Amino acid sequence: MYDYIIIGGGIVGMSTAMQLLQQKPDAKLLVLEKEAQVANHQTGHNSGVIHAGVYYTPGSLKAKFCLEGNKATKAFCDENNIPYDECGKLLVATNDIEMERMKALWERTEANGIERHWLNADELKEREPNITGIGGIFVPSSGIVSYRRVTEVMADKVREAGGLIEFNCEVKALKESDSEVTVTTNKGAFTSQYMISCSGLMADRIVRMLGIKPKFKICPFRGEYYLLKPEHNKVVNHLIYPIPDPSMPFLGVHLTRMIDGTVTVGPNAVMAWKREGYKKTDISLKDSLEALTYPGILKVLKANLRPGLIEMKNSIFKGGYLKEVNKYCPIIRKSDLGAYPAGVRAQAVSEDGKLVDDFLFVKTKRTINVCNAPSPAATSAIPIGKHILEEAEATFA
Ligand SMILES: Cc1cc2nc3c(=O)[nH]c(=O)nc-3n(C[C@H](O)[C@H](O)[C@H](O)COP(=O)(O)OP(=O)(O)OC[C@H]3O[C@@H](n4cnc5c(N)ncnc54)[C@H](O)[C@@H]3O)c2cc1C
Repeated sequence: MYDYIIIGGGIVGMSTAMQLLQQKPDAKLLVLEKEAQVANHQTGHNSGVIHAGVYYTPGSLKAKFCLEGNKATKAFCDENNIPYDECGKLLVATNDIEMERMKALWERTEANGIERHWLNADELKEREPNITGIGGIFVPSSGIVSYRRVTEVMADKVREAGGLIEFNCEVKALKESDSEVTVTTNKGAFTSQYMISCSGLMADRIVRMLGIKPKFKICPFRGEYYLLKPEHNKVVNHLIYPIPDPSMPFLGVHLTRMIDGTVTVGPNAVMAWKREGYKKTDISLKDSLEALTYPGILKVLKANLRPGLIEMKNSIFKGGYLKEVNKYCPIIRKSDLGAYPAGVRAQAVSEDGKLVDDFLFVKTKRTINVCNAPSPAATSAIPIGKHILEEAEATFA
């Protein structure tokens, strides 16, 4: 019998496991991960940005945890010799509408307590000769890191502290009683006093296994990238982001310096036909049917039909994608865009057709389930783990 079972070897599960053993060194802890390694899904397929917390609703968990997580991630990297680069980020306005939106973002960054600097067009050009815009916001605390590496180090710490990580072990069924939770997997059944699910793209299915009908469904959104040719590795000095449309949940195609010295463009956001489908041609009948029969997802698709179709077109035709980048970085050519692996975001959608904005947790007497942890959850993984442990202390008898 374990004290705690954690489902999921992504950054949220590993951060929680690591902090749990720091807090309770005698606890018997087991992490169950269906893949052969940690960080195989969202954590290992993202932009690698240590977000500063620009966009999030003031007072939300996202705003709070991102700000804390920005500092905590860098501190963790410093303590463990993990390379990161505090390269800063530039949000660039290219027309009057974006300038208006940028002013609103400026207010939001103030409310969120983030250091930032307003740049006029000349100051922008001085910082970024290859970027064109009518103004920008410079956020110095944004950075880049490999979240895969961060998660691997967290996993090492879990093992060093006596925790067990069972790979290739898929949770198939759950049963919660008054005294324990039974977790049935392809490698047999395990019992534990408590269970914490950090299962990303499968979050709703895990909740369902507990016999709860979740009030949301995970909608997978592919994020497709291109890798710039090596001669463009110095094309920008910072991370370059467009000013996002506030009615859209994702940040827009950005130029991201990666920690290995390369530069990527992306990600876009197109609905995926398979939850863990990384290739454009990946389709799962089960996943597609589940999504297309959920009223909330249908409402989202209807409400975002035009931008959704544009995203799909740009996903198929490089030219459309390139246009997004050329708005602020005109020197990039179609031939500069090379292949790069896509990621799939786990975005919870509510029954009434809203993309759940904030981090979301569903609790029972003996379980805590992370149900919505999209970006900036990699940045925020350390405070999310801390929050889960506080919730566990308050909930678990
Ligand atoms: C394209 C893209 C770009 C992003 N960019 C950024 C960024 O720049 N900065 C940032 O902060 N965030 C970013 N994010 C978000 C960030 O990557 C995620 O929020 C974060 O990785 C979520 O971590 P997680 O541990 O919850 O999920 P995951 O990393 O998906 O881990 C969940 C784990 O649970 C396991 N699992 C699921 N079901 C079961 C089961 N039944 N049994 C056993 N194991 C199971 C899975 O195999 C998986 O390993 C991005 C995400 C994407 C997709």
